[in-house]
Amino acid sequence: MIRQPIVSVLGHVDHGKTTLLDKIRGTAIAQREAGGITQHIGATEIPIEVIEKICGDLIKKLKIKINLPGLLFIDTPGHEAFTTLRKRGGALADLAILVIDITEGFRPQTIEALNILRSYKTPFVVAANKIDKISGWKPKENYPFLLSFAYQQEETKAKLENLVYEIVGELYNQGFQAERFDRIEKYERQVSIVPVSALTGEGIPELLMVILGLAQRFLEKQLEISETAPAKGTILEVKEEKGLGTTIDVIIYDGKIKRGDLILLGSKEGVIQTKVRSLLKPKPLDEIRDPKHRFSHVSEAFAACGVKIAAPNLENALAGSPLRVIANKDEIEKVKAEIMAEIEDVKIETDKIGVVIKADTLGSLEGLIKLLENEGIPIRRADVGDVSKRDVMEAEAVREKDKSKGVILGFNVGILRDAEARARESDIPIFLGNVIYKLIEDYQEWILEEIEKKKLEEFEKLTKPGKIRILPGYVFRTSKPAIVGIEVIEGKIKPGYKLIKDGKIIGSIKGIQEKNINLAEATKNMQVAISIEDGVVGRNIEEGDILYTFITDRELELLEKEFRDKLTEEEIKLIEEIKEVQGCRRL
Ligand code: GDP
Repeated sequence: MIRQPIVSVLGHVDHGKTTLLDKIRGTAIAQREAGGITQHIGATEIPIEVIEKICGDLIKKLKIKINLPGLLFIDTPGHEAFTTLRKRGGALADLAILVIDITEGFRPQTIEALNILRSYKTPFVVAANKIDKISGWKPKENYPFLLSFAYQQEETKAKLENLVYEIVGELYNQGFQAERFDRIEKYERQVSIVPVSALTGEGIPELLMVILGLAQRFLEKQLEISETAPAKGTILEVKEEKGLGTTIDVIIYDGKIKRGDLILLGSKEGVIQTKVRSLLKPKPLDEIRDPKHRFSHVSEAFAACGVKIAAPNLENALAGSPLRVIANKDEIEKVKAEIMAEIEDVKIETDKIGVVIKADTLGSLEGLIKLLENEGIPIRRADVGDVSKRDVMEAEAVREKDKSKGVILGFNVGILRDAEARARESDIPIFLGNVIYKLIEDYQEWILEEIEKKKLEEFEKLTKPGKIRILPGYVFRTSKPAIVGIEVIEGKIKPGYKLIKDGKIIGSIKGIQEKNINLAEATKNMQVAISIEDGVVGRNIEEGDILYTFITDRELELLEKEFRDKLTEEEIKLIEEIKEVQGCRRL
């Protein structure tokens, strides 16, 4: 039999994912006589009859035979749910809707979503949302887009076309060929863009139609399942429920599960073996009289569906990990090994010079890994759970080799107390967050700051240009060391700088004093006393002499090539002057 394709909604925050899902559900519920929707745990099912009703004549235009039983929409939109719902290295969602606010275009999470969809090879359609916000748009509630479009004024139409083409262009920049859905020539290679309004419902019929078309074209094999086989699923969430204890919300994508079934599932420490005590589905909203009884018991459930499972020993269950029903006890060891292998497959444990990452679910860990790989950031260790002392120690080991990689990135996790203390002590940066791209961005910004800091330190160490004049009448001591009053004419001097006169080094600055107070430097126009090691008044220096700071060839090169932006016009001019003076030294 063919099961419903599982559909997930992705896109940048505020682009309308939730509103769109609500609208799709609402539009379906409005078709009451056709059966409306079925609410699952974590998902909503829309039967094919309802979709056919919404789409009307459009389906005929598709010119394909639809033999899908319906669509199963994952209720939680966003990347996190998408990546949490994984199966064998891929995404559990068979298809995705990428929502883009047509008036805003691409935003960071749009690109992140595209990267995720690309790496999971998930077919998707773009919903160019909020067309009702285009100025001059006259909304036609729940109309197919093309019908509503035909009603709009030429100017408004042109605006929409431009905005669609901007999205086409941005998708092209990301390596995807795209077109408005009604102009697609090659479905295999082009991404369809459906202009919609999640507020007015315009375009929803075509959006559903394009999803059906995608499913029919790309998924038939993958949707072929056995109704009686033992179920396979993925844990969406681990939840405490009043009166039920710890429960797991599971999306079943293959086979059948019933009360009393023996199940195996992944946990933070290996595989849990337990028995299904209750299978639960949500009660229709209008039947919930007491909020304590939000679920109704069912004796069995078939793919594709979302169910809540109550069973003993679920406390350590791991979201994103596989769940398997065992029909034959001989298979326990084999399936256990398979589940372990699947979990181990995601985790990373190496000696590489790379970052340490932690995430709350197996799926989000996998998502984070894929995005870091896209960015070319190496990973030393990737695991689920809070940041531990061991993670900090791994990062310390990495830092010895490469400071910029001795860090920890944690997605939706906390830091264990001993880990926090250790990280504070050894100064290991820990980046935490619940938006993947932001987490990676924070880390990359930190690297840039570190590079800038290092550059600044290097710059600080270089001898800067300085030009001084020995003030006549201010010789305090003639030698060992010579102490004279000077004025800084240009640039600056610091203790340790060597001084030159007529191209020859005459000694180095031992100290700088102003009114008997030691200074770390003296800058333009300051009059100070300096002591000059190896300077002898009357022999190699005289009152009224002009002296320059001595800058080595390598320092000169660095100052001119690497740090030119940190020098003032005057300093650059002075460097030219010093080069000339030092040039005669070499002659
Ligand atoms: P999400 O963060 O992607 O789930 O975005 P929401 O669904 O929460 O929508 C964000 C805001 O955009 C809300 O104020 C919605 O009412 C608004 N919105 C969503 N879709 C549309 C639309 O098609 N037209 C207009 N005008 N506003 C919309």
